[in-house]
Amino acid sequence: MSENIRLYMEDWLYNSGIVGFYNILKESEDEVTIKDNYIEFNPKVLENFEEKYFNYFINIYEETLAWHKIVSFEDFIKYHEDTDLKEFSSNSLDSLNKYITDILKRYIKSNSYVAAYELINSDVDILQLEKDITTIKLNKTQKLEDVLPEVKTTLSKIYKVIDYVKSDEAKRYLAAKNVIYNIIKNAWEGVSFLNRQPKEKDIYVDYRQYFIPPVMEYLGSDKKKFKYNCFTCDSEMKDFKNDLSFLNATGFDVARKTSHVWDFNNDVAVCPICKLIYSCVPAGFTYVYDNGIYINDNSSLSNAIEANKKIKSEILKKHEVTRSLTYRALVKSIQEQFTENMKYELTDIQVVRYENSKYRFNILTRDILDLIHKSKNSLNSLISAGYKEVNTYFNIYDLVIDSLFNTQNLFLIIHKLLIYKLSTPNDCYFNGLQLFNVMNINDKFMRGLGYMEKIDSEKDIVKDGNMQGYFLRKEYKEKKAESKLSGIAYRLLNALKVNSKDMFMDTLLNCYLYVRKPVPQIILEGLKDDVAFKTIGYAFVSGLIEGKENTNNGGDSNVK
Ligand SMILES: [Zn+2]
Repeated sequence: MSENIRLYMEDWLYNSGIVGFYNILKESEDEVTIKDNYIEFNPKVLENFEEKYFNYFINIYEETLAWHKIVSFEDFIKYHEDTDLKEFSSNSLDSLNKYITDILKRYIKSNSYVAAYELINSDVDILQLEKDITTIKLNKTQKLEDVLPEVKTTLSKIYKVIDYVKSDEAKRYLAAKNVIYNIIKNAWEGVSFLNRQPKEKDIYVDYRQYFIPPVMEYLGSDKKKFKYNCFTCDSEMKDFKNDLSFLNATGFDVARKTSHVWDFNNDVAVCPICKLIYSCVPAGFTYVYDNGIYINDNSSLSNAIEANKKIKSEILKKHEVTRSLTYRALVKSIQEQFTENMKYELTDIQVVRYENSKYRFNILTRDILDLIHKSKNSLNSLISAGYKEVNTYFNIYDLVIDSLFNTQNLFLIIHKLLIYKLSTPNDCYFNGLQLFNVMNINDKFMRGLGYMEKIDSEKDIVKDGNMQGYFLRKEYKEKKAESKLSGIAYRLLNALKVNSKDMFMDTLLNCYLYVRKPVPQIILEGLKDDVAFKTIGYAFVSGLIEGKENTNNGGDSNVK
């Protein structure tokens, strides 16, 4: 029984399970060995594995859980008790009432919590406590002082609830309930504690009973007699009992939904060890709400563990209010990897995202990762840049990264930003330099894809184009003809949109005729190449309209 078990890396789903299994054991300080493409451990680490399993999720996601929202109100109570309600304002009363309705009553009465109370060994009747707590409203004749005694009793009642919820045993079950529905359910359901009609009420016992004894039995059996092989790890197995239909959105779950395809699917079965590993998939992924991300770094198991550890700590940073699964955290962890180890060799990375109950895959090529590294400063300058479109705020950094990761150029974004700068400058929260940086990133991106080979790579065509636009603007200013510039800019943007060099040159020739200057060399250069034409053209327009009056932020502030 004490022989070590070795599991090798396979596909992304299994790998995320191995990484999750490793994370769980590491969190509980168990001994586990990582080699190039496998993990090795002794079966004794499976003792109390159900505790380790839930502990991991509770520790990692603690601050995001409803459980935490309930208990973190303790600071508020302590503060006002210590100051004897002297600082208690009408704002405080609002916060108190909001907490009572939105947090306390909502979660304490939730089905998943109610089901857990009978498992918690305590004399406290928590539902009765909850019933006794009500919000405090001032009637027309009352002042805040009049309700302070009532506030005081309410605070002490809430304190009793928190005291109960905070206890080790209540946390063990209530926080576990939260991680089941917030985290684990994203990866699998239908079996064990996620069975629709669970026979066992204790989720810890349920997990253990479902996953662990089959592993132990399997380890102790004589595998020579087994006729079948595990779909994942290929080792011998007795029967087809363990299918993968409990895994969400993997294609294996069809059997669960339509029974007639069962026959087609029953050649997909795994050994009990692999099944246990698959139950750890949610510990390999990082989730925010219903979205998840996993970096499938195949180069080695330790790289896979490291990459996902970085992104997890970036996304779940303590005390961060806005957690989101934009690529921001990914970019930051990539950039960190560079600073940590300059020799870090970049390879293509597969990013697996779980969105709208589906898995999506992106390949981040070496070129894109390299571009992101090289454009670090330009990118960082965009973090606070954005614009408003029909009352929705869009962050330019996120848009740029999303496009790059999908291998799409930035011309559309640039076009949009210039149009907005012209038409609704008050909805623009970016300056000329930030726009310039977007164009620069796009220039590098296009060159990285092999475009603009005819254009001298030493030449900064974005800067040159931008400068010429600026110079033309100055000429118009001197002639007191600035008002004509908007119309010209619109025409130029139209030409760029439909890729018409003729239309663009027509407009420009007229402009330079008007100021009696020759068309600059850089514009003529752009006529040699379609991508260079757009690059130079947009840079030119941006120089031409730069400094357009923006009553909102003076045109050069980057505050949101
Ligand atoms: Zn297996």
